[in-house]
Amino acid sequence: MTARVLVVDDVEANVRLLQAKLQHEYYDVITATRGDEALRIADAQKPDIILLDVMMPGMDGFETCRRLKALPDTRHIPVVMVTALDGRTDRIRGLMAGAEDFLTKPVDDVQLIARVKSLVRLKIVSDELRAREESGVRLGVIGEDLHADPVDFHRVPSGRILVVDDDARQVRLVQNALSVEHRVLSVADEENGVAPDLVVVSLAAKTFDGCKVIAKMRSATQTRHLPILAIIDPDIPERAVRALELGAHDIIARPLDEDELTARTRTLMRRKRYVDALRERLDHSMELAVTDQLTGLFNRRFLFAQLEPLVQRAACGGDPVSVMLIDIDHFKQINDRFGHDIGDLVLKEFSARLASNTRPIDFACRLGGEEFVVIMPNTEGDVGCLAAERLRRHIAAASFSVDIPGGSLDVTASIGVAQTEGVDDTAELILKRADDGLYEAKSAGRNRVIGRRSNEAAA
Ligand code: GH3
Ligand code: MG
Ligand code: MG
Repeated sequence: MTARVLVVDDVEANVRLLQAKLQHEYYDVITATRGDEALRIADAQKPDIILLDVMMPGMDGFETCRRLKALPDTRHIPVVMVTALDGRTDRIRGLMAGAEDFLTKPVDDVQLIARVKSLVRLKIVSDELRAREESGVRLGVIGEDLHADPVDFHRVPSGRILVVDDDARQVRLVQNALSVEHRVLSVADEENGVAPDLVVVSLAAKTFDGCKVIAKMRSATQTRHLPILAIIDPDIPERAVRALELGAHDIIARPLDEDELTARTRTLMRRKRYVDALRERLDHSMELAVTDQLTGLFNRRFLFAQLEPLVQRAACGGDPVSVMLIDIDHFKQINDRFGHDIGDLVLKEFSARLASNTRPIDFACRLGGEEFVVIMPNTEGDVGCLAAERLRRHIAAASFSVDIPGGSLDVTASIGVAQTEGVDDTAELILKRADDGLYEAKSAGRNRVIGRRSNEAAA
């Protein structure tokens, strides 16, 4: 898992040192010696991570970080501030300026690589989500308007935090520091089903192995995406590295500093919210892209995307596919007599009956208007006709309850059925045959099912 790292430091020797360490681990390194230069390079070359020196003439590290975090094109790049060893206030200021992490000079090799690895891992997740979203925009299934950032980067998001620690004093300290902005959960809350947004795990606990807790959380589907902040003992640096390798997103050393804890928690929570929002928005827009808004059935786009390959496979000797083409009888009269809104309610009720009367492997789609298609994979035409007949009866058997004088409405539908035939079959052809059947059903008096094959030419 390699990545491109931008190293920013006004002292040439520091740049070379970090560069050498990173290149030794096969990272691709680019460099800058000034804040403004770093902004330009970050924008043009989109590094995966930025190591930023605090003390620089001109624009210092804090200001550079603030600017990086204010620009839509660079705010997703994780920033690690490189500070002096005793620079506690610098570290807090850095985190407050939006930096994801900090390293102290002289930079420890193990810490450096562990930090870079864990931030790159986090970035890969959000890059992947952003890329999928962008390809959705290109394909036209996601609107451009969704492209704005899903969350406000400057707001401090509050959330639920679970503390896993056996040191009562430390737990109290965490509670004091974090309950100002968040709700701190106990293990009992979690057992009662309150899901946390972030977990603080102590690796210095005596009664349990914190690394095991982290590993377990990372492997369970429900907790896999949760950010984890590990409390470490500064005397046991190997364990910190181990925690980061196992998937902790960040570490904090004992004794805990309240401000640092607050700042680290904020950063993690902000990222969590960002990734959650991206993921949710993506699921939602993918769902929107294949769903008909009025009825919740699959839409026309999905219908053709699904049917075409199924028909092709059948044409090459694969399983047969049948389709129903369904059209509501005299639907225009319903609109004309009761209005378009009642017409819509009928379409919804009709769709619900359609959906509940198809098998799980079938796809119920709205072709448009009052016309529907059910794709029945692995189904011969005569079986398809039986399924259509069952559906027809289910529609006609009970009136639709809608808000009209009299309270209900009798609705019927006509259905044409066709199955895949021959080596030259296409989605268009099979739907055409089903349409011939439908036409015949309408001509013969409606409320009926007609199956059609290609050799039965229309009368
Ligand atoms: P037939 O039995 O021959 O199918 O007659 P019909 O009246 O059902 O067919 P026709 O194609 O003449 O009319 C369909 C009507 O469906 C016309 C159109 O205004 C209406 N329609 C199409 N989409 C919608 C919609 O989303 N909502 C509502 N309420 N009406 C729609
Ligand atoms: Mg019609
Ligand atoms: Mg109709």
